[in-house]
Amino acid sequence: MLGLAGLPLGLQFTFLDPAADACAAAVGRHLEAAYTDPDALQELARTCERVTYEFENVPVQAAAELAHSVPVYPPPRALEVAQDRLREKQFFRSLGIPTAEFAAVDSRQDLEAAVAHVGLPAVLKTRRMGYDGKGQWVLRAPDDLEEAWEALTGNSPLAAPCVDAASGALLAEALVPFRRELSVLAARDTSGEVVCYPVVENHHEGGLLRLSLAPVPGLDPGLEELAHTYVRRALEALQYVGVLCLELFEVDGQLLANEMAPRVHNSGHWTLEGACTSQFANHVRAVAGLPLGSPQPRGWCAMVNLIGFRPDPAAVLRIPGTSFHWYGKAVRPGRKVGHVTVCADRPEQVAERLEQLRRHGVPLPERAEAGLFGR
Ligand code: AMP
Repeated sequence: MLGLAGLPLGLQFTFLDPAADACAAAVGRHLEAAYTDPDALQELARTCERVTYEFENVPVQAAAELAHSVPVYPPPRALEVAQDRLREKQFFRSLGIPTAEFAAVDSRQDLEAAVAHVGLPAVLKTRRMGYDGKGQWVLRAPDDLEEAWEALTGNSPLAAPCVDAASGALLAEALVPFRRELSVLAARDTSGEVVCYPVVENHHEGGLLRLSLAPVPGLDPGLEELAHTYVRRALEALQYVGVLCLELFEVDGQLLANEMAPRVHNSGHWTLEGACTSQFANHVRAVAGLPLGSPQPRGWCAMVNLIGFRPDPAAVLRIPGTSFHWYGKAVRPGRKVGHVTVCADRPEQVAERLEQLRRHGVPLPERAEAGLFGR
């Protein structure tokens, strides 16, 4: 999608992707190699004027090395902070961005003290390599600690062992009784200009993003402004270039930062049709040293992820204001293989169109049926 956004600007792309079936190969040259492959990195440095990434587990070392020869945006420091949940939370706090209570857990002995600090219920998370809800365990009672420890440090058949947990690098966080999950995307260009997209409401199931609504129905304008202030602080602190996503919990009329993604984000896919300039176009513009475009919404929009499921595109496209995006990936349970955007002039119209989508078999989160836009 970054490549598609860059082609009309006359840009050409080389994609480093270890996957043989990289979907980006359709819009540029594909280097099939590991992210750390020295020859591939050298080839990027030799042939590219700018380098960016859209996967947050790209090894920091590879990005930092490339940055000696070619501008790498967003700056590798953003990757470094975002890859470690502890550093990330400390970073937010250092900028005056509130978070849930948290405590580092470096050993089994630390766990009781950490949980005493954050209180129960809590979430125990691996510090690294967690995504889409993986590498997390909810603690509700003191008896859960042992099982969670076993699961996250790889000794349990109940959960896939998590890469870094063997070294004991975990984080305990208070479980936030949030009203809803929000995210805010913003782009910063090489001259320091910033544009902020409207705040988005996100619905997850099984740790995966299912649905985003933009702009958030009924959000207090004060919270919208606060979200923009927080994301701007993060952009400035990192001297960031590109699109950054900040994920937030709305709780008791407050915002708590959960995590950030130093890249274009799934909760910004709605911008392809729903905003004047998409997150992809603005990311590419920022990285290429071009001016940013307007982040204004064109109306009301919902983005529905297609997870392990391919609906009939014709049925989807018959619904007015609806777009179908297919990533060309093999369909597997739990895999994001495409998304649908539903746009309209009025929130109720989006709700009606979502309902039509559901009738065509596209699964929507439970709460979507309660008329999300009607609140
Ligand atoms: P994360 O990988 O941190 O984005 O977490 C995945 C999902 O788990 C989030 O989108 C939330 O739904 C939930 N979650 C994570 N941390 C917390 C928390 N401290 N309190 C409540 N829910 C959480």
